[in-house]
Amino acid sequence: MGAANRLLDLSAYELAGKIRDREVSATEAAEVANRRIESVEDEVKSFITVTPEVALERARRIDERLADGGEVALHEGVPLVVKDVLSTKGTRTTCGSRMLEEFVPVYDATALARFSEDLVMVGKANMDEFAMGSSTENSAYFPTRNPWALDRVPGGSSGGSAAAVAAGEGWWALGTDTGGSVRQPAAFCGTVGLKPTYGRVSRYGLIAFASSLDQIGPMTRDVRDSALLLQAIAGHDRRDSTSARQPVPDYVAALEEGVSGLRVGVVTELTGAEGVEPEVREVSERTVRDLEAAGASVGEVSLPHATYGLPAYYIIAPAELSSNLARFDGVRYGLRVPAEGVHEMYRRTREEGFGDEAKRRIMLGTYALSSGYYDAYYAQAQKVRTRIIEDFRAAFSEYDVLVTPTCPTPAFGIGEKVDDPLAMYANDICAVPASLAGIPAISIPGGTVDGLPVGVQLMADHFEESKLLRAARAAERASEFRFQIKPDGAQNGTGAGS
Ligand code: GLN
Repeated sequence: MGAANRLLDLSAYELAGKIRDREVSATEAAEVANRRIESVEDEVKSFITVTPEVALERARRIDERLADGGEVALHEGVPLVVKDVLSTKGTRTTCGSRMLEEFVPVYDATALARFSEDLVMVGKANMDEFAMGSSTENSAYFPTRNPWALDRVPGGSSGGSAAAVAAGEGWWALGTDTGGSVRQPAAFCGTVGLKPTYGRVSRYGLIAFASSLDQIGPMTRDVRDSALLLQAIAGHDRRDSTSARQPVPDYVAALEEGVSGLRVGVVTELTGAEGVEPEVREVSERTVRDLEAAGASVGEVSLPHATYGLPAYYIIAPAELSSNLARFDGVRYGLRVPAEGVHEMYRRTREEGFGDEAKRRIMLGTYALSSGYYDAYYAQAQKVRTRIIEDFRAAFSEYDVLVTPTCPTPAFGIGEKVDDPLAMYANDICAVPASLAGIPAISIPGGTVDGLPVGVQLMADHFEESKLLRAARAAERASEFRFQIKPDGAQNGTGAGS
């Protein structure tokens, strides 16, 4: 029992080292994750599909390769949680929607294929339908609970991924971030979430939400794990023409360079944004003081158009989504509701296949793109996007890293905002500017407020992930917060039988 619990306490990086050194087998690690899922999943509900056999079979293959003296990359044997928006060959991929309830992809997303052909995947994580949402309550299946407080949301849309990492149901996870969906749930669940630069990670096999914004990102226990996971998934892919050709640096090696001489800017408009609770602001202020104590220079910086990011995002993202979701017509993929005539079949399929939020956004997006309204909405939002990009460009001429809270509040209650879309959207105010500008941003836990974790967001210029991770690592070191597996009580029994 003790041994398994000790394994659960290791970071992904530490576990990877032990697997490589053959102190622990990949099979043992997969068994620990599978047992942990069995013991807490009824309470937390992180997964739409669990794949214990897939995990074991691939872990065995890794152990065989190790036994034969074969090459195994550092990250390969560590059990991974995969958001259900990423195509997984042979494993159903629902995107949190009824539309894709029976959809089994015939290929793996590039990020997964690059990771390892023996990817130890423990399951497909719950999410808001087609990644639209901030609470995972828009899943067509069930809401996921926050492991820190089971009556609260884990955030979204990658809420299942964040909850699974916080609950120890896997050592790390992949999420996707279009307007905060990696960073916000990471913040709500006391974990680290990194949205890479747009183009750093291939989007091939990621079921599209808003193609000019979507990125796949690591969700992990600590900053080093995020660096390792990013290294595994990043790089050019000829199947995604927006993926960048820049070489992938050694992110893990860059971590220990410290922050001395780094210029850190506190973003006035977002730190003081409407709805940011004073206690939450204090957590990010403390992080800034920690960075200063570690040798960074600190100043205040203005992003004058940052708060317009929210309305611009909620035009651009639905506009792109309304077009991306047009493919779900009952003909090519997923659900088909038979009816008299093709138009009636389209109508009924889309009526039954999509949930309320998807329908709301398809209508918003279609409206914003329609002739007569295009200039007033879509074109206007694109102008705001350009202004935000210019604001960041000016800020990064003076600063290396910018700091804001990740979200205005800690995790809110299940059911609290689900009937109030605007309140739900307002949660993304600090997250969306980085998405619109395509820059990398990370959320790290800065502390707790009333026993709930609070995230701090760090942003850097395009392809400056090394700098971003370095600063995040220094802040994490200085912080009193340490990753802890939740819920506490459920940990007993995890190691039964070992
Ligand atoms: N919460 C935001 C939305 O609902 C962001 C979602 C995302 O990043 N996938 O659109």
